[in-house]
Amino acid sequence: MPYRAPVSELSFLLDKVIGFKAVQETERFAEASPDMVSAVLTEAGRMCDEVMAPLQRNGDLYPAVLENGVVRSSKGFDAGYRAIAEGGWVAITADPAHGGMGLPLTVATAVNEMMSGACLSLQLNPLLTQGQIEALEHHASDEMKALYLPKLISGEWSGTMNLTEPQAGSDVGALSTKAEPNGDGTYAISGQKIYISWGDSDLVENVCHLVLARLPDAAPGTKGISLFMVPKYLPDEDGNPGVANTLKVVSLEHKMGLHGSPTCVMSYEGATGWIVGEPGGGMKAMFTMMNNARLGVGGQGVGAAEGAYQHALAFANERKQGKNDHDTIIGHADVRRMLATMKAEILAARAIALDCAVSIDMGRATGAPEWTARAAFLTPIAKAFGTDIGCEVSEMGVQVHGGMGYVEESGAAQFYRDVRVTAIYEGTNGIQAMDMVGRKLMDGGEAATRLLDEIEAEAEAAKGTMPELAAAVWEAAETLRETTEWLVGRAMPERFGTAVPYLRAFARVLGGHYHLRAAMADPDGSHGKLARFYITRLLPEHMGLLAHVRAADGDLMAISPDDLAA
Ligand SMILES: Cc1cc2nc3c(=O)[nH]c(=O)nc-3n(C[C@H](O)[C@H](O)[C@H](O)COP(=O)(O)OP(=O)(O)OC[C@H]3O[C@@H](n4cnc5c(N)ncnc54)[C@H](O)[C@@H]3O)c2cc1C
Repeated sequence: MPYRAPVSELSFLLDKVIGFKAVQETERFAEASPDMVSAVLTEAGRMCDEVMAPLQRNGDLYPAVLENGVVRSSKGFDAGYRAIAEGGWVAITADPAHGGMGLPLTVATAVNEMMSGACLSLQLNPLLTQGQIEALEHHASDEMKALYLPKLISGEWSGTMNLTEPQAGSDVGALSTKAEPNGDGTYAISGQKIYISWGDSDLVENVCHLVLARLPDAAPGTKGISLFMVPKYLPDEDGNPGVANTLKVVSLEHKMGLHGSPTCVMSYEGATGWIVGEPGGGMKAMFTMMNNARLGVGGQGVGAAEGAYQHALAFANERKQGKNDHDTIIGHADVRRMLATMKAEILAARAIALDCAVSIDMGRATGAPEWTARAAFLTPIAKAFGTDIGCEVSEMGVQVHGGMGYVEESGAAQFYRDVRVTAIYEGTNGIQAMDMVGRKLMDGGEAATRLLDEIEAEAEAAKGTMPELAAAVWEAAETLRETTEWLVGRAMPERFGTAVPYLRAFARVLGGHYHLRAAMADPDGSHGKLARFYITRLLPEHMGLLAHVRAADGDLMAISPDDLAA
């Protein structure tokens, strides 16, 4: 079955589950009326179905290659990219002053998810450009904005982010790329960056690299990092791509999946760059890009899960296996369990990502710090849970296919291979969890508690209509509250050993909350049944996870490297 963008499900979630109406009622986003949003989702969904989804296999079968120093994209990606750019889908949230549509991030999150489900490796290209646009909107000079933003927003140029170096992965502060002042306001950038997604392409006229580097005598660690714009071609007087910059793609990585996205080793050899923001302010500027990208990558996980689910569902409806000739495997209870799990997990992860986007939009529209804190708390959950679900659902998709799942021609394995990296890049999911129990609980658990209050209040209100489900969600939130209070009292290193199960438990409980809302809106339909499945079968996982958290980590670090080798 070909991919069908889940437009109606996304609309249901926006309207009934995550309270998008509040965003539409703000002055800033007043233009995003229900009719307009519906038209945007429908049109984006059509482009995903008709243009992007047919390219998904091409990315795998015809990987991007490096030919004479230039990256050649996968077969058909040029037409796909043109459709994205011409449709205005590169940057629908961007400032209208530079050619954007100024739409809420919530709408972009829905569109990005659909594009990810259709063709993940191609979608990564505009996702990176979106992050770059946001970083420039916040931190670049007016001159730089005027030069770069219109080209990035129109998709004529694309953007990359260059953090990683061989010795500087999760520990970005260890990077050593240098930036020497040229004396004319520009800088000479020298160093090697690895794993740079879409570090070059033949889809655009220019590739704009945002590069983290160190000025001479910069402080060690993250404080001494600055951010630079380093384009592949130096813009000429008219702002068009001019002389080639002194940078090159050295090689492409051979990866497990996502073959349509070229992952480049980049060499900067005194390349001309312009500083973005203040000297030493590189991490601050890059965080703008990374926060956007973290939510975007969470959405990639959800999108890939949706694609894998649709694939598995179609197979289960066709594959005959059973006592009777006409039995298809969807009739078997275990296959039904897998499909229901996939669908229920997707709703939970999708709602978390959209709710995070709503919080960002509300923070921007109202300036209220509670919304910003809510968004900050939800961001690592949206990234880690969204991508974990992407991996788990696509792995289950392989299982639904039986032996055919292991055979490449079915296409089931590609979803798993492609999405696997989303749990690694943009900060591994372990690092996301540490951010959650570290920085995001530094408010003494205030943002977490506010979310739990919200969940409990709604569960309380739902008790009259759905007593059993509402009570289960309320109790789960209360157990999580107790563990949160306990965790806030622990020292930081102790928290880190339990960060991953804590994040997962929070996501589980949030999932119960959104499923309950969906059931209240559609009690007798598929959402009501799916909510019962999630809340009675999947939500209880939080108890085991929280027991893991409460065990603290004294026992964990007592297992020495020698014990592990024994
Ligand atoms: C396909 C692909 C595309 C990518 N695209 C880009 C890109 O466009 N731009 C870019 O800059 N980078 C990119 N990356 C790099 C990516 O962000 C890093 O791989 C990632 O941040 C992890 O860094 P690392 O690979 O060095 O792993 P390491 O940092 O060595 O981590 C290895 C393991 O140790 C854990 N670990 C490390 N430090 C800690 C710690 N302090 N506490 C607890 N656990 C820790 C990690 O969670 C992980 O499980 C890409 C990577 C891949 C594979």
